[in-house]
Amino acid sequence: MSIRLEHLNYVYSLGTAYEKHALKDISLTIPHGEFVGIIGHTGSGKSTLIQHLNGLIKATSGALYYNDENIYEEGYNMRELRNQVGLVFQYPEHQLFEIDVMTDVCFGPKNQGLGPKECKERALEALKLVGLKEKYYKSSPFELSGGQKRRVAIAGVLAMRPKVLVLDEPTAGLDPKGRDDILDQIAYLHKESDMTVILVSHSMEDIARYADRIIVMNKGSVMYNDKPKKVFAHYQELEKVGLAAPQVTYIMHDLKEHGLPVKVDVTTVEEAAREIMQALERKE
Ligand code: ADP
Repeated sequence: MSIRLEHLNYVYSLGTAYEKHALKDISLTIPHGEFVGIIGHTGSGKSTLIQHLNGLIKATSGALYYNDENIYEEGYNMRELRNQVGLVFQYPEHQLFEIDVMTDVCFGPKNQGLGPKECKERALEALKLVGLKEKYYKSSPFELSGGQKRRVAIAGVLAMRPKVLVLDEPTAGLDPKGRDDILDQIAYLHKESDMTVILVSHSMEDIARYADRIIVMNKGSVMYNDKPKKVFAHYQELEKVGLAAPQVTYIMHDLKEHGLPVKVDVTTVEEAAREIMQALERKE
């Protein structure tokens, strides 16, 4: 499903003394199947933006199109949209409540009106996709580790087979290993399916590693919307708004300044390692 926002504005508490213009004239397109990263400091409008994507909140003005259909037109099937756009909130494990993992993951498909057999099939498929070991399927969600709980919560959304998966800081509060596992799993899911993935993160490292494109939010507006390398080339401007390029980008700039002929538009550790090795070989 392709997504297009046109001149979208959102104002909290409109018409009161507490008005807050949280999204300002947002226009952007997310083609079907893309992996997009959304980044920005706290309060820049990321959560407000993603809540529009499955119709949780309605724009004050402007339009939001899915496959060229304006979801704000009368008669648009919002229920169907919510089935197709899966939103994983921050700390989704707070919403785990069923007696065991299987039952919990079945909750979404059951709500979609599917019968018990199909729900179970969906749940099994989703749990496999998130890489949770079978021995946990009958456990209470509350007995699991933080990373495992997160997987169960993501499986609960995947079991509804969304076409668009939106994740709000899916690694918040996890240790580095748990973080990498979850993100690798999401990247794998994206590769294996034709799902559009929208990942909100405050980690430049994570976004640089996984996203095809980055949307940088600043004070309710889109500051950059481009490929990671192009966005991080603006690292000085990013710093001015309290953001930064991945640390490795700075290291490459330092190495170049100290005479090692490396490319500076490197954004991941793996890429940096290759580039440094090649530069050293060139120097010899
Ligand atoms: P982010 O997700 O980037 O931290 P948010 O979308 O949560 O940003 O917030 C954008 C702006 O809207 C902030 O200034 C925030 O204080 C304000 N805001 C968020 N939620 C509400 C709300 N329910 N009522 C009023 N203002 C809000």
